[in-house]
Amino acid sequence: MNVRLTHAFTFEAAHRLPHAPEGHKCRRLHGHSFRVLVTVEGPVDPTTGWFLDYGVIRDAADPVRSRLDHHYLNEIEGLENATSEVLCAWIWERLKPLLPSLACVAVEETCTARCEYGGEA
Ligand SMILES: [Zn+2]
Repeated sequence: MNVRLTHAFTFEAAHRLPHAPEGHKCRRLHGHSFRVLVTVEGPVDPTTGWFLDYGVIRDAADPVRSRLDHHYLNEIEGLENATSEVLCAWIWERLKPLLPSLACVAVEETCTARCEYGGEA
């Protein structure tokens, strides 16, 4: 039996999108209450009834959250163009070595917009 487990965390940060079209609102400096969903996938241990302790996901994600929270994302190496797409890949690269079963990283900039990344095939 395979399952997908998701741990969510939030952070507050500012960014701007320097490559958005001239006049686009996202070129201006602004902030979001970002929500990130980290999903792992794998088999349930028949004895414990678990696949993975959620705490393992949280512990892997905590340093990433600290690096992003209350920062100007464009100043962070690799996030000079801090779109949700770039942010998903940036988080994925940092979590995958710690969470080999990582299946998806999703970034929500708002309640109505989400980007999901599942790594390169
Ligand atoms: Zn934005």
